[in-house]
Amino acid sequence: MKKIILTLVSVAVIVGGVFFFLNQRDTKQTNNNNDKLQVVTTNSILEDMVHNVGKDRIELYSIVKRGVDPHEYEPQPTDVSKSSDADVIIHNGLNLETGGNGWFKKLVKTSHKDFEEDVFSASKGVKAEHLTTNVNEQDPHAWLDLENGIEYVENITEALKKKDPKNADYFEKNADAYIAKLEKLHKTAQSKFLDIPESQRLLVTSEGAFKYFSKAYHVTPTYIWEINTESQGTPEQMKTVLAKIDDSDVKSLFVETSVSPKSMEKVSKETGLPIYSKIFTDSLAKKGTKGDTYYDMMKWNIDKIHEGLTAE
Ligand SMILES: [Zn+2]
Repeated sequence: MKKIILTLVSVAVIVGGVFFFLNQRDTKQTNNNNDKLQVVTTNSILEDMVHNVGKDRIELYSIVKRGVDPHEYEPQPTDVSKSSDADVIIHNGLNLETGGNGWFKKLVKTSHKDFEEDVFSASKGVKAEHLTTNVNEQDPHAWLDLENGIEYVENITEALKKKDPKNADYFEKNADAYIAKLEKLHKTAQSKFLDIPESQRLLVTSEGAFKYFSKAYHVTPTYIWEINTESQGTPEQMKTVLAKIDDSDVKSLFVETSVSPKSMEKVSKETGLPIYSKIFTDSLAKKGTKGDTYYDMMKWNIDKIHEGLTAE
């Protein structure tokens, strides 16, 4: 009799344990917002692209915040835990997240994720431009050509579909509508700058982020430093940019929102040319302000650059 009671008690304990475990699991899933796909992006531009495809059927977190440089970054504890919990991590690739001895690669390792399995490059298949100072290094700023941005959106859509096939139709429908909107802006931009005399069509920025943009939209890029990971505003760099400006009939300068404006202010003082406007390269504007989406940042850049180059 005693034995039977003992056995019953053990069974009760085991069953209770199993129920407790299942219960715990349910709670965890609820905390994770049911079964929504958990997506992490490295920066705000990718975040906005992913949002346009996944909308309310995914949970989204961006590592580098708005207004912050994504070349050099040190992941915070929240970034590590979000990346560990993620089903999908989207990064730019093309040598963007490589500063600080490759901060992103380290993060992928710490979060126990695998490239191509759960980590996807938005720039896959894009034709890379290279740095002029080091032709072995890729220039990361491909998204500044909308045609590449569209390729990013297609890659993002494939990644979401792969990890969440039951929402594939939904993702595709959203992507199609979004791509149509980007395509229209791209078409406008392709002929936008052709009404400006060529000697006046020099786009002066701090970082040389406009290689892809310039090729697509027919302006000539010049810059103080080529990429944010190198030293910024050295006397040699200043001399080179001032000579290029001197050789042109350019009317205005521009400064990016994610760099220090100091060097461009110096160029402005030296040349007497005004800094016409801030423009967006590596980051979107804060939510609720102008340039807070990829579409709006591109539209802003195209409009402001055209205005600045034709200013009297
Ligand atoms: Zn950059």
